[in-house]
Amino acid sequence: MKFDIPLMRPNITEEDFLVLRESLRSGNLVQGSNVEHFEHKMAEYIGVNYSFCVSSGTAALHLALLSLGVGPGDEVIIPAFSFIATANVVELVGATPIFIDIDINTFNINTLLIEEKICKRTKLIMPVHEFGLAADMSEVNAICEKHNLYCIEDAACAIGAKEDELFTGNMSEIGAFSFHPRKSITSGEGGLLTTNSKKHASFIKAMRNHGLDFEDGKSVQNYAGLNYRMTDFQAAMLISQFNRFDENLSRKQWIADRYISGIKNSYIKLPNQFSNRKSHSWQTFHVLFKNQTLRDKFIRDMKSCGIQTNFGAHSIPHTNFYKQKYFFNCNNRYPNALEAHLCGAAIPIYELLSDTEVDYIIKTINNWNP
Ligand SMILES: *Cc1c(COP(=O)(O)O)cnc(C)c1O
Repeated sequence: MKFDIPLMRPNITEEDFLVLRESLRSGNLVQGSNVEHFEHKMAEYIGVNYSFCVSSGTAALHLALLSLGVGPGDEVIIPAFSFIATANVVELVGATPIFIDIDINTFNINTLLIEEKICKRTKLIMPVHEFGLAADMSEVNAICEKHNLYCIEDAACAIGAKEDELFTGNMSEIGAFSFHPRKSITSGEGGLLTTNSKKHASFIKAMRNHGLDFEDGKSVQNYAGLNYRMTDFQAAMLISQFNRFDENLSRKQWIADRYISGIKNSYIKLPNQFSNRKSHSWQTFHVLFKNQTLRDKFIRDMKSCGIQTNFGAHSIPHTNFYKQKYFFNCNNRYPNALEAHLCGAAIPIYELLSDTEVDYIIKTINNWNP
């Protein structure tokens, strides 16, 4: 049997096609009743008072920063290892990203390194639930409380993940999610904000829609807003995708369990598991190698066996823009972020991965002898 397994296959079902068709046929293309319906579902699931659909995860993060009034002169603490959007939105509002190295055991922000970077310009901490594992939010929130800082969760890849009993997106001022095809449920592009604050809710709601709002049935404009609306057919698709979300998550958990118990290769370090963060959204199954040469060889060898793998995320301070702007020759400041970027690999994990493919991936990895 010849295998050709991509890193991700979004699961677009017949039901998704049906609701998409119906929504398109209605003629209501921009933000409408499906958006509203999906927002209610998500707020209920995550356990927050408000949720708002927007056009992407990046748009969600941008609005979150704007809602907290983050701007020039402010510093925003973020992990050094993430998708670059986490830092780009900080640049976009004119603030300065302050990078913190990650804990190599979780790939999340190392909370022990945060306090030494806090100064009077620090406005907020924005942890990322990297790869779908909740960041150490109890620790992050304790630091925020002590220093009177805000917190935003970049929960782009962590829908359904928890720390203890709380869902990601409900552990800070504002949570931001993404529905890019690499995430658990998708509308092509799309994002979501969650908050318990009425003030943020009314700002976000107006801001995504040109700053327009309705008071007593009349349209008012209190802000110079943006157009970050989601289309109504995207929301229809998300409602349909979300109806199967529990199956989706448990399938990924099943695959992760198979990988963790089945992969036995001394060149490969598997992701750690944590008793207070059992609910993992498994956006990425990220393994580590001793060095970059081994990792690169793994990616090449897996490719020749028909399995697509790739690096997991960026060490953001080492990307051209951030290196040139802030770190001319500070190559060794973020050793764990660099290690994760250079020596880590994402292997396929998604609902549509068949049992045969899972077995084949495990067997191929176990037979890999560089
Ligand atoms: C995917 C992702 C984003 C960006 O989401 P988009 O919907 O692609 O804009 C931001 N942060 C993290 C951690 C992500 O994984």
